[in-house]
Amino acid sequence: MPHGRDFMETTKEHVLDTFFDNLSRSTSRLLLLDYDGTLAPFTPNRLAAFPAPGISAALEDILTAGRTRVVFVTGRDCEELAGLLGLKNPVEIWGCHGREYRGPDGRTKTIGVSPEAQESLREGFEAARAAIGTAERTEYKTGCATVHWRGLDPTERERISKAVLPVWQDMAGRHGFEIKDFDGGIELCVPGRTKGDAVNDLLAEYGDNTPTTAFLGDDLTDEDGFAALGSRGLPVLVRNEPRSTKAHTRIPMPEGVLEFLGRWRAIDSQ
Ligand SMILES: [Mg+2]
Repeated sequence: MPHGRDFMETTKEHVLDTFFDNLSRSTSRLLLLDYDGTLAPFTPNRLAAFPAPGISAALEDILTAGRTRVVFVTGRDCEELAGLLGLKNPVEIWGCHGREYRGPDGRTKTIGVSPEAQESLREGFEAARAAIGTAERTEYKTGCATVHWRGLDPTERERISKAVLPVWQDMAGRHGFEIKDFDGGIELCVPGRTKGDAVNDLLAEYGDNTPTTAFLGDDLTDEDGFAALGSRGLPVLVRNEPRSTKAHTRIPMPEGVLEFLGRWRAIDSQ
């Protein structure tokens, strides 16, 4: 009888082997990638979160080969992510958790936030910035205001949380906003769009001819993307430790992601 862990490792390898076998026989390939915690290690300064060594080269090769459509699906806004990626090839991005789209030609569109809601979010952002006393841990973007507390000690997190949450809870009650926890902070969001909607919009472009698709992500917000992709592709949790997930397999960051992209690159170059 196999040892439990060995069995799990064998199953994980089988899922990946089957996927790459399918990919090698497919001419329609779609690679969906979260950024923070998936391609880039977390850093206390979120504006200095660059891809892990080797990631950019693998992505550049896949983009240059031109046989896979690569779409970055992120909570960041599109322009900020494009800057951090710093790739020579044009990139396609679904940003702000499915609220903001930017095509490889630079064309952009924004989905479903009224000017009134956006203005209210600005108030939430300014309240948070005032509570924290610095701009670098706050973020204001389409459909969302965010507080980042990664790297802060628990006392400071508690202080920020106590200062920001009552204001945000009041706004959430008045405007129907949601307050979401994520891995490293909290967000005040206009409800109604998630990464899952971005995945569904992308797949809808293909009708019944679903491409061979994988979605790599690490955070709770990626679970919406995993659920949307479901059995139409391979949802992959990027995480060193197990957690309850809708992903079909799990790989560690960065070595598992590097290996995954390396296998994809090898198939695209055949
Ligand atoms: Mg992430």
